[in-house]
Amino acid sequence: MKIGILAVQGDFEAHATRLRELGAETREVRTVADLEQCDGLILPGGESTTQLQFLQEEGLYDAIRNFANSGRAIFGTCAGAILLASEVKNPPQSSLHLMDMTVLRNAYGRQVASDVFFGPCKLKSGPMEMVFIRGPIVERAGNSLEVLAEYAGKPVLVQNKNLLAATFHPELTSDTTVHEHFLQMVSAHSAKPATA
Ligand code: GLN
Repeated sequence: MKIGILAVQGDFEAHATRLRELGAETREVRTVADLEQCDGLILPGGESTTQLQFLQEEGLYDAIRNFANSGRAIFGTCAGAILLASEVKNPPQSSLHLMDMTVLRNAYGRQVASDVFFGPCKLKSGPMEMVFIRGPIVERAGNSLEVLAEYAGKPVLVQNKNLLAATFHPELTSDTTVHEHFLQMVSAHSAKPATA
C-alpha cells in the first residue's frame, strides 16, 4: 500500500513522518505519473491558492478528481480540506468540488504560531489534540458527510466514504489516530473487486 502526498509546498514532510511511523510506504506526488503509483493520497496544509494553481497547471486537477471517483481514498488537511470542498469563501476560489461542504478560509489559528484545542472525536475515547494554523471553518456540511469531530459547534473532521477532511493538522501532533483511520480507509477502498 503506497500513500502519495502532494508535495508542492506546505507541510507534506510531516505527513510522511507520521505515515512512516505507522509502517506505511509514502511517495511524494508532483506529477500525474506519481499519482498513478499510489493507493491513497494526502493533500497537506499550506496555501490552497498556490496548490490549486499547481494542480491545474500539471494536469493533477483532473487526475485527482478521477482518483477520487475511482474510489481511492484522499485525506485533505487544512488547505487540503479547502481543496476538497464544493464551495470556498473568504475569499471565494475554485476547488476540486469532491466533498459537499462550504468552507470559510483563514478562520482558526494564527499565521506564525498554531492554536491548540482539545475536543471529542468519534475515532477515540479521550479528547483529541487539534492544532489550527489559519484553518478553515466548515460553515455547511452536506448530509453525505459524517462529522467525526467538532470544535466550538463546527465540524473539524468529516468523512464521506473514501474522502476525509480535517481543518486542523493531525500530522503536527504525536497522536496518530487520524492517520491510522486514513490507512484503514485506503486499505478498504483499494481492495480489488473479486473476479468472477
Ligand atoms: N489559510 C490557508 C489557505 O487558505 C490554509 C492554512 C493551512 O493549511 N494551514 O490556503
